[in-house]
Amino acid sequence: MAQNRYLPYGYKVENGKITTQPQEAEIIRRIYSRYAEGLSYKKIAEQLTESGVRYMPDKPQWNKNMVARILQNQNYLGTEKYPAIIENSLSHAAQQMAKPYTHTESADIKLLKPLFTCGICGAQVKRRLKTSGEERWFCPNDGKHIAVAMTDETLLAGIEKLQNHLTANRQLAKARQATQEQVDLGVVRLQNQIDLALNQPAPNLAELQQSIMALASQKYALIQDTHCDEKELQAKIAQLSDSLLNSRLLKEITAQINLAHTTATALILKNGQTISLPTAEKGVQNYE
Ligand SMILES: [Zn+2]
Repeated sequence: MAQNRYLPYGYKVENGKITTQPQEAEIIRRIYSRYAEGLSYKKIAEQLTESGVRYMPDKPQWNKNMVARILQNQNYLGTEKYPAIIENSLSHAAQQMAKPYTHTESADIKLLKPLFTCGICGAQVKRRLKTSGEERWFCPNDGKHIAVAMTDETLLAGIEKLQNHLTANRQLAKARQATQEQVDLGVVRLQNQIDLALNQPAPNLAELQQSIMALASQKYALIQDTHCDEKELQAKIAQLSDSLLNSRLLKEITAQINLAHTTATALILKNGQTISLPTAEKGVQNYE
């Protein structure tokens, strides 16, 4: 698996060393100052969006989760690994204003969540919240299937990439026999896994349950395939024109969204077609 090069906002790697990213460091200081002045996460996010600065190169929109995350990141005070970006006094002033942080799940995540599937074992992917309010997606079967750095944001960015890939290559969505077989193979593989587990003297019940659930969802996807109206599906795909994530349409055309390692790896359309990025375009956002 490729090295995950995710770095907190405000830092970059230069000559193999973690150093501050001056423009981002400036934004971080601005966020702390505004917060210390009494502005809410939401208000700060709005101001940042209006001013045109970006959280990620392809993300003009700020939200309160991004702001909250920056305000809770202890690294900005300086650690062995990360150089300091803000003064103790500023951090302290901001802490004085701290209100209990309630995490809000974005509408996109709410809509698409039921489709999230581990791309490696087929389990339903789960999400937990860290005490900092940061969310983490993980595979209940194996921690190695999904990297610890996968947040809502990295996940949605990955799905957006897949959506753009589909929009630019609509021919990939046309039903073909071969892909049907690939989905069928997934079913066979899961069935074998379950049979194997059932033959163990002491099967891992939790794991077994996951496999059975995954099998059910794969079979469900197959049933969806046969009932999928190809014309209607292609018409919906034709409506995808925006380069921004359109979770409502994606939900209508997609049976499953696979996640693996650091990002969303594939959209399995309702006709069984798999949309995944060519290898060169895969990979995480990084701040280098
Ligand atoms: Zn898994």
